[in-house]
Amino acid sequence: MRLVSQSKKLASVCYEIRGPVLAEAKRLEDEGHRILKLNIGNPAPFGFEAPEDILVDVIRALPTAQGYSDSKGIVSARRAIKQHYEVREFPRLDIEDIYLGNGVSELIVMAMQGLLNNGDEVLIPAPDYPLWTAAASLAGGTPVHYICDEQAGWAPDLDDIASKITDRTKAIVVINPNNPTGAVYPVDVLEGIAELARKHQLIIMADEIYDKILYEGAKHTSIAGLAPDLFCLTFNGLSKAYRVAGFRSGWLALTGPKEHARSYIEGLDVLANMRLCANVPAQHAIQVALGGYQSINELIHPGGRLLEQRDKAWEMLNQIPGVSCTKPQGALYLFPRLDPKVHPIRDDERFAFDLLSEEKLLVVHGTGFNWPSHDHFRLVFLPRVEELEDAMQRIERFLSTYSQ
Ligand code: PLP
Repeated sequence: MRLVSQSKKLASVCYEIRGPVLAEAKRLEDEGHRILKLNIGNPAPFGFEAPEDILVDVIRALPTAQGYSDSKGIVSARRAIKQHYEVREFPRLDIEDIYLGNGVSELIVMAMQGLLNNGDEVLIPAPDYPLWTAAASLAGGTPVHYICDEQAGWAPDLDDIASKITDRTKAIVVINPNNPTGAVYPVDVLEGIAELARKHQLIIMADEIYDKILYEGAKHTSIAGLAPDLFCLTFNGLSKAYRVAGFRSGWLALTGPKEHARSYIEGLDVLANMRLCANVPAQHAIQVALGGYQSINELIHPGGRLLEQRDKAWEMLNQIPGVSCTKPQGALYLFPRLDPKVHPIRDDERFAFDLLSEEKLLVVHGTGFNWPSHDHFRLVFLPRVEELEDAMQRIERFLSTYSQ
């Protein structure tokens, strides 16, 4: 029989968060092992349940959500998003500039498919949320990674960005607050990025899915509001702050001048039409989420569960010899560094496999986030404090004898 092969388009596409190490974890679970999973930012299974009013509204809306919606999404949700962003001074945003999607993920793929020709370049942070790199590659583009500087609290290195801009660069991706580092970018860094985008006529793609998960007074600034003269795509959704990742509910807002981007926007319309619409019941969660009580604040303010877990995990990690970790100011993740002098790691995926097999603990290796060296890994701090303590003890025990 003729061999059935994957398309060549997939040759350079990878998404390691759900890669071979996870497959091995599933195999171990099938054998009866209990795996402590610190690999995915999925709040609900850790007991972070959705606000009640969201569930009530979605259930109430179910009978009216049986048909397809407009391909950009139901008007009530898009109106709520427009109002939400008006307060944040997003420029020139009409409800026709808002697209609802099956999570931010679908919209990221659409944004790249609509924009890139073979060889077009997109600037993407390193480390990144790897869907951005995968989506750019799948669309035929070339992801070009700019470095975020751990010494500077993981802020994007503006000089590195500037040095990587070519006449093929079409867009710059900004993930703020950042996954995996937890960095929340200062205004001057965002202004620096905007200035480069202005100078080189780049589109800005801002992934702000963690904009409400902020610790210790960290302040989030949307780049779209900061640079009203630039064409900007802002991505956000309900998966994290509203804990309904399974609903697959996200949106994309186009702001700033659009006259010169008509062709691209028509392309986005075609892509939105092709997938008919986003899951309609989940679209009904958006208005109540944005307009309702913001229960996420109880989790991140002093005494809040997320804040406590972040503090505990961060403190314990930094006590492990040869491990250091920048304190996350936002999001749900820690991205610790293994000092190469103490823990020389040649292959960080191997490290994740070995940690899994010896300690039954699942993390994601740093190169899975397009980080260039084998000296980091990512873990989520969603489990309860007792489980995080257990996890940190396992990491410490493992590292005390591990070598590659
Ligand atoms: N963007 C970032 C930075 C993420 O961390 C994630 C999920 O972890 C997503 C996008 C995907 O979000 P969604 O569930 O809306 O597809």
